[in-house]
Amino acid sequence: MAEPASRPGPLRHLVLVLGDQLDAEASGFDGFDPGCDAVWMAEVAEESTHVWSSQPRTALFLAAMRHFAQALGAAGRPLHYTRLDDPGNRGSLAAQLAADIARLRPQALVMTAPGDWRVLQALREAAAAAGLALDVREDRHFLCSVREFAAHARGRKQLRLEFFYREMRRRHGVLLTPAGEPEGGEWNYDADNRKPFGPQGPGFVPPRATFEPDATTREVIALVRERFAAHPGRLDSFAWPVTRAQALQSLQRFVDERLAGFGDVQDALWPGEPWLWHSHLAAALNLKLLNPREVVAAAEAAYRAGRAPLAAVEGFVRQILGWREYVRGIYWTQMPGYLERNELGAHEPLPAWYWTGDTAMACLKDAIGQTLEHGYAHHIQRLMVTGLYALLLGVDPKALHAWYLAVYVDAVEWVELPNTLGMSQYADGGVMASKPYVATGQYIARMSPHCKGCRFDPTQRTGDRACPFTTLYWDFLMRHEQRLAANPRMALQVKNLARLAAPEREAVAARATAIRRGEVAGA
Ligand code: FAD
Ligand code: SF4
Repeated sequence: MAEPASRPGPLRHLVLVLGDQLDAEASGFDGFDPGCDAVWMAEVAEESTHVWSSQPRTALFLAAMRHFAQALGAAGRPLHYTRLDDPGNRGSLAAQLAADIARLRPQALVMTAPGDWRVLQALREAAAAAGLALDVREDRHFLCSVREFAAHARGRKQLRLEFFYREMRRRHGVLLTPAGEPEGGEWNYDADNRKPFGPQGPGFVPPRATFEPDATTREVIALVRERFAAHPGRLDSFAWPVTRAQALQSLQRFVDERLAGFGDVQDALWPGEPWLWHSHLAAALNLKLLNPREVVAAAEAAYRAGRAPLAAVEGFVRQILGWREYVRGIYWTQMPGYLERNELGAHEPLPAWYWTGDTAMACLKDAIGQTLEHGYAHHIQRLMVTGLYALLLGVDPKALHAWYLAVYVDAVEWVELPNTLGMSQYADGGVMASKPYVATGQYIARMSPHCKGCRFDPTQRTGDRACPFTTLYWDFLMRHEQRLAANPRMALQVKNLARLAAPEREAVAARATAIRRGEVAGA
């Protein structure tokens, strides 16, 4: 990308824009003057190697960055852009910034608050080393600032989504009656959203919006294939939105065609069906191609126009206005210590097949296979298939975090880390979730037909055909019995342990050990 023509006067502000900050209205651009300011963007290898970033994830970020750079150019904003394949690319954001500061000599640096603690520290250090002020501005993309979240959290023994979510609905006037009460009389219709598909499966689901890669995206795909050839994931079916216009089309398609069906079967799984009734908007939101306000407004408008039922719209709004803002608040109020939390003392390595999908466990094979193919899996696949298995196995939460951050196209640390460490692994000891989400293989059997095509049996906890989820579930309860017994929400599950006589406990523990040692074929 061409460097801007040399300017007559000094460079006042260099405005730093990261790969997940592709919003031309972001606070970093406030007061931007093309006469004396310039934008800085850099593609650097470190962002694809600090975790083993999958090919779809890296390709999406780079393609979206290059399209955003083109839009900045068209809007007349001077830009200094370093490409991954530029000779002299310094390889990390901090090193590239240091080199560009020395070359461009800006008077100050400006940026919208980044999404990663690690990146913020690195850029702060680079600015300080150059003796420059770094003006980090509030990220207006979010509906709840970190300060507001901290105020919400202050004095509370436990943080729970429900209270925060109600506050957000009230504060932003979403799905309220004129009297300020929740539409339909209830705040939350989650109980209606947990149905499996019937035996006939999901039937016809309106397809997601897909986008044929243009010349810019094809160039990125070729670069990623060559430069990150050994990284996981495939690019043959890459069709993600990479511009704001495409992201808006995806939103429109979802609201028009799938929102009405979003609620009911939100937790259901079906082999070979990755997309179902989900929105697939997380990546566009996290790259800031979409604003959550417009997403929530579009969903609410569909409800008001009678185009989608309340339970579906409320369920969707809760994800965006509730969960998404809530996990961001948790991340920024708990970091940097949060990354080190390991409350359950889990230290097992992540099984190597998480990177290949090469396992005989049908549910895991399906979830990981589509993850590698598309960089996508829906929430219950992440929480109750890949996440649950790692929790039951006792995988080191940091190793699992490195996997989730690497493989999904929507993965950015502020949202991935609390979901992995907190919601899925209970490694924060209950900051985020009131109990560990644990279940046997029978949960998966209820929500999908996976078990019918699997060599394991979800009803068995011991023996050759015992489902590893089921064995490891009982083993998990035994290993953490004392701690879990103190949690009223786990009391019933722990009480069931009393049904296991000593020889059965021993058999469960022995098979769990065999699974951990890789001695059970297919697990
Ligand atoms: P939909 O099912 O259509 O939901 C709508 C939107 O709500 C999503 O696009 C997302 O923006 C938001 N949302 C829903 N659930 C959550 C949640 N728990 N936290 C935050 N936002 C939510 N989400 C990410 O955006 N990035 C991640 O890296 C990520 N990692 C996860 C790791 C684990 C272990 C788990 C259990 C969940 C993770 N999630 C993550 C949350 C959720 O699974 C994804 O947002 C969702 O599956 C994305 O698909 P979708 O866009 O089709 O979502
Ligand atoms: Fe998954 Fe167990 Fe069912 Fe196999 S039997 S699909 S491993 S839950």
